Amino acid sequence: MKIEDLIGKPDLTQAKRVLAIQPHYDDNDIAAGGTLAALADAGAEVYYLSVTDDLVGVIDQSLTEEEMKAQIVAEQQEAGAIIGVKKSFNLWFPDAGEYTHHHVRAGIVQHIRMLRPDFIFTCDPWTPYEAHRDHIKTGLAVAESVLIFNLRRIKTDPQVDAAFEPYELGGIAFYASAYSNTVFDISKTREKKYAAIACYRAQLSPNDVAQISMMLDIKERDWAKDEPFSHGEGLKVLRPRHLHVFPDAVYI
Ligand SMILES: [Zn+2]
Repeated sequence: MKIEDLIGKPDLTQAKRVLAIQPHYDDNDIAAGGTLAALADAGAEVYYLSVTDDLVGVIDQSLTEEEMKAQIVAEQQEAGAIIGVKKSFNLWFPDAGEYTHHHVRAGIVQHIRMLRPDFIFTCDPWTPYEAHRDHIKTGLAVAESVLIFNLRRIKTDPQVDAAFEPYELGGIAFYASAYSNTVFDISKTREKKYAAIACYRAQLSPNDVAQISMMLDIKERDWAKDEPFSHGEGLKVLRPRHLHVFPDAVYI
């Protein structure tokens, strides 16, 4: 084994099966949609898992809960078809509401065991000034799930647990990170990302989409300024072993 395999970051370009876990239905695409579309284009199977039901941010106040959920699911499918998402799942916890770390973690571990990804994406819960608790809770629950999903005494769905065989996860990619160590080339897939973001009409007005797109374009050019491509997405890519008693992970 090479020392890089112990302390270096894993190679995200080798991802074959990706599970991208987001607090809300638009987070994966806004923060990493170009990367996820590029991995799908390269042949990776890409799955999305949303932690919350997204109902708090729905703009149209006249919709019933069923109508809102139907719209959220339809928009997620529409955007997923653009990015190349094979299937989207949802844990349906209340958006900006009360739910426990352990319940979220169990749902995440269950989906890791079901889907057996080699790379996992999520939002970075250690980004300073991140104030949205759904993002902090999701990021922490995903990071801890990466540490423990192979421990079979941790129970989720009995059928999923019974069929599960432990395996080695290649790595985790945190998006919206203040400590990114990787810039992924999205110059060929950024149009898909923007088209996907425009699908989230329940939560984003045309003006919101225009503002987000403008801010993202500036940041994508900034990330790519020392790279041989025009637009990139910054990610903090780590191995599972970096997520526990490994203080130098911040410097990787
Ligand atoms: Zn969010």
